[in-house]
Amino acid sequence: MTRNVLITGGGTGIGRATAQHFAERGDTVFVTGRRREPLDRLAKEAGVHALVCDHTEPAALTALLGGLPDRIDLLVNNAGGNTDLDSDLDSDPEADGERALASFARAFRANLDANLLTAALTTRALDERLAAGGAVVHIGSIAAEQGGSYGAAKAGLTTWNLGLARELGPRDITANVVAPGYITDTDFFRDRLPDERREQLIAATATGRAGSPADIAGTVAFLASPAARHITGQVLHVNGGARGTR
Ligand code: NDP
Repeated sequence: MTRNVLITGGGTGIGRATAQHFAERGDTVFVTGRRREPLDRLAKEAGVHALVCDHTEPAALTALLGGLPDRIDLLVNNAGGNTDLDSDLDSDPEADGERALASFARAFRANLDANLLTAALTTRALDERLAAGGAVVHIGSIAAEQGGSYGAAKAGLTTWNLGLARELGPRDITANVVAPGYITDTDFFRDRLPDERREQLIAATATGRAGSPADIAGTVAFLASPAARHITGQVLHVNGGARGTR
């Protein structure tokens, strides 16, 4: 059966690999993101439908509905990323007093919006279109076990999903989180991590390698497959057995 698949943030990295996976299998795939260029490139290469949308914005989501089919069989809430990579303390170290607090609040909210609100708002917007026999998969992170505002947002995704799974269960729709460890071939891993840190993270895995976007795409495909119909409300960790990588 051909399925209608929506992958948020599908123009790059993990989302892109996931979109390619489902497109190759013959599904009808819709990808979104804030920038048009990577989406259009993927649309040309893989025959997916590209739609610009900022998933933190209710008005943008309402507009998105106009470009989507009435039935969505798989929603992958992948849009996100650490918006505060350069500061472990989630605040501007130069600021003090009210300015420091305001800076902390901005940084904290940005990660909650980018990683938790995007998924919740998108699922809400599409609720009536989610089809029986379908699946919702959120992309969490190993960071949910490591702290920080990014980790807190990803951990919140797991908790929010528990209620969602109960709500969607009677409609025969599953809802799960896939929590990647460190993934190669993404801007973050390739360009933003110091070499030493990259090696440390790889050494902490049992497999001796970072994951690939295809590892995550394959796991999403499993959760959307008939074999996974009784799996819901869960977190599936895809991190090569990583431990102690704070
Ligand atoms: P990318 O930056 O390549 O992918 C994130 C995508 O999300 C981009 O295409 C971006 O496009 C889109 N996006 C971000 N915010 C929004 C928004 N508000 N509305 C619409 N689209 C948005 O990184 P990854 O592929 O690595 O990340 C994918 C997911 O995997 C994220 O949720 C990330 O937190 C998670 N993850 C990644 C890990 C890694 O090691 N790479 C590890 C664990 C989890 P645009 O900027 O054009 O909007």
